[in-house]
Amino acid sequence: MSSKNYTLNIAHLYPKLLNIYGDRGNVLTIAKRCEWRDIDVTIDEIDLNDTIDIKKYDFYFIGGGQDQQQIAVAKELQKHKASLQDAKDESAVFLAICGGYQLLGHYYQPHNAEKLSGIGLLDAYTVAGDTRFIGNVTASCEYVNPKTLVGFENHSGLTYLQGDTEPLAIVKTGHGNNAKDKTEGAKSKNVFGTYLHGSFLPKNPHFADYLISLALHKRYKEEIQLPPLNDDIEVNAHNALINKKY
Ligand code: GLN
Repeated sequence: MSSKNYTLNIAHLYPKLLNIYGDRGNVLTIAKRCEWRDIDVTIDEIDLNDTIDIKKYDFYFIGGGQDQQQIAVAKELQKHKASLQDAKDESAVFLAICGGYQLLGHYYQPHNAEKLSGIGLLDAYTVAGDTRFIGNVTASCEYVNPKTLVGFENHSGLTYLQGDTEPLAIVKTGHGNNAKDKTEGAKSKNVFGTYLHGSFLPKNPHFADYLISLALHKRYKEEIQLPPLNDDIEVNAHNALINKKY
């Protein structure tokens, strides 16, 4: 990297409500992997009734949560539907986990509650199923090297992708989006959703760096090579799930 001082501004959406399974660890991973490369990072926690200045943010994170918390966040997100679509159009990076992922689609239909409108950043929809999928997931992903993603899933929602929204990965072990079509997660432009908790990014450092590179490109309109880090611990954790006998 040049000696230029780079900055990355992160909006952590509704962490007081969508914060299960240590999903905050994804924001900490992005921040630390930037700081270890002398990239300055700001993290703004966005709460209910807060404004969201899309001119400021390069990276948006929204974590997972139970149906009850999703109801409150779904209502709030509707206020920001148009501006977050503008952020997507300007190549901002979004990472959404499980419950947060479901709300970036068109809707989430819980079991015993009204249908929750999503904000449609992903051409996808989710309906609650009768089975709760809980366990480790390994999947193949064409956007990174190595071409593997690992994590832990816990959801009853069944997500179906449509239109030009692509799967993030293809399930090797576990259930993924809907336990039927072998897809896991979703990608549309720089909007990424996944069912992988764990939290997700600490065990997938190559994917974390992919997201950082996309967010820096959005801000500086140039390819910025990230200096390599010593990822021995992270890679060992990743490979432990890949090599586990399921
Ligand atoms: N409530 C949603 C479901 O069960 C999301 C759960 C989660 O975020 N882990 O599918």
